[in-house]
Amino acid sequence: MTDEQWGALRSNLLNAVGKNNFSSWIEPLDFDGLCDGVATFHVPTTFLGNYVKQNFGDQILYQMMGLGVDVSRVRFLVPAANGRSRHSLAQSHATDVLPAGEVKDESRHSVVAAAPLDVKFTFSNFVVGKPNELAHAAAKRVAEGGPVTFNPLFLYGGVGLGKTHLMHAIAWELQLSRPDLNVVYLSAEQFMYRFVQALRDRKMMDFKELFRSVDVLMVDDVQFIAGKDSTQEEFFHTFNALVDQHKQIIISADRAPGEIKGLEERIKSRLQCGLVVDLHPTDYELRLGILQSKVEVHQAQYPELELDAGVLEFLAHRISTNVRVLEGALTRLFAFASLVGRPITLELAQDCLADVLRDSERKISVEEIQRKVSEHYSIRLSDMIGPKRVRTYARPRQIAMFLCKQLTSRSLPEIGRCFGGRDHTTIMYGVRKIDDLRMHDGQLAEDIEILRRMLEA
Ligand code: ADP
Ligand code: MG
Repeated sequence: MTDEQWGALRSNLLNAVGKNNFSSWIEPLDFDGLCDGVATFHVPTTFLGNYVKQNFGDQILYQMMGLGVDVSRVRFLVPAANGRSRHSLAQSHATDVLPAGEVKDESRHSVVAAAPLDVKFTFSNFVVGKPNELAHAAAKRVAEGGPVTFNPLFLYGGVGLGKTHLMHAIAWELQLSRPDLNVVYLSAEQFMYRFVQALRDRKMMDFKELFRSVDVLMVDDVQFIAGKDSTQEEFFHTFNALVDQHKQIIISADRAPGEIKGLEERIKSRLQCGLVVDLHPTDYELRLGILQSKVEVHQAQYPELELDAGVLEFLAHRISTNVRVLEGALTRLFAFASLVGRPITLELAQDCLADVLRDSERKISVEEIQRKVSEHYSIRLSDMIGPKRVRTYARPRQIAMFLCKQLTSRSLPEIGRCFGGRDHTTIMYGVRKIDDLRMHDGQLAEDIEILRRMLEA
């Protein structure tokens, strides 16, 4: 690549990715040379190389091709002189993202316990809002790698609210700021898997040593080990050993420690000893903020696509609390618009996301169903739920059970609990009964249809 081409590439990239991205990610690249169609760029860190490859790799490649450079592949290398830390995360990640053989691990010995990190899960990609500001602040603090002030940091919250994102962000940050630390991130499931494997291979000593030599341990989705007794036991010992050595531990779960069923009391109380913070469901502002930040990446990828004003606001309003779904919707929207070659308008969004929008509609609750059905049949709510078995109450009750099964995602035992603690077999019987009856009873079928429509309105 000539100097002119290099200059042109840089200015094209500046236009494509914007000033901020350019100075963070493209500026540090150092063009090394071109050999057999492979363009090599030197990068200061594996982290940066992986990030650039993941987010801008294709663009760089296409831009170079566009400039007439004879290239079929780009790669990003940390120059050997920099030396590679013994860092376990760097290793597992580098081999994960770069094609095999590209980054050589001279030091692949003991620590293989870490799971790969997602390059997109960094602090700079995490949008902070009211619902997650505390969790974010706590994660930031831990990521500084200073003296351990709260142990463990326990993050909890519903699906798709950013727990894993924050944990990876901590790991990335620590990798940059404290490359001397041995940071291990893994899911509770992987912890169990390794534990079982160690038992089977009679390598428990190695297992214990491995985990006790960690400086920062992160275990994601710890609710997974609830009810798994020997894994819990081992986790507890690992946990205590690390806390005793003042090693930082970061745990995530889908609910608060005290609410995880099947988790031993002593573990619960240990988990509560540190800082427990929750990620609240997203609010409108946070969702909009997240969409605005993600849309930049899509726009860099599809610069030709026009995005109408109001589309992001519409999505932020209409799509549930789960960020993963929100992201998926945006990706789908851009892909769809690019395929059909149309600008992204409100109508296009409604068309292309009909199913997602429907799914995120207001959820119907068991209580609402019970209320509507009792109103419809003019009986009291207490009689609907109560024990009386006369037909006037029993039939509406069964209809309500049937609707609960159809319109909510509650299980039979859960529904049973909402109907005065009835057994799940009673609910099943009621549901089947109504399912049978409505085949022959036109009036009943119509009633159910009306109720369903009222509830879904
Ligand atoms: P959890 O582990 O809590 O189920 P994740 O961390 O996997 O959720 O997040 C789901 C997706 O949503 C990920 O792609 C993540 O990057 C994204 N996400 C969640 N919260 C945010 C946020 N505040 N800013 C940017 N992206 C977010
Ligand atoms: Mg997760």
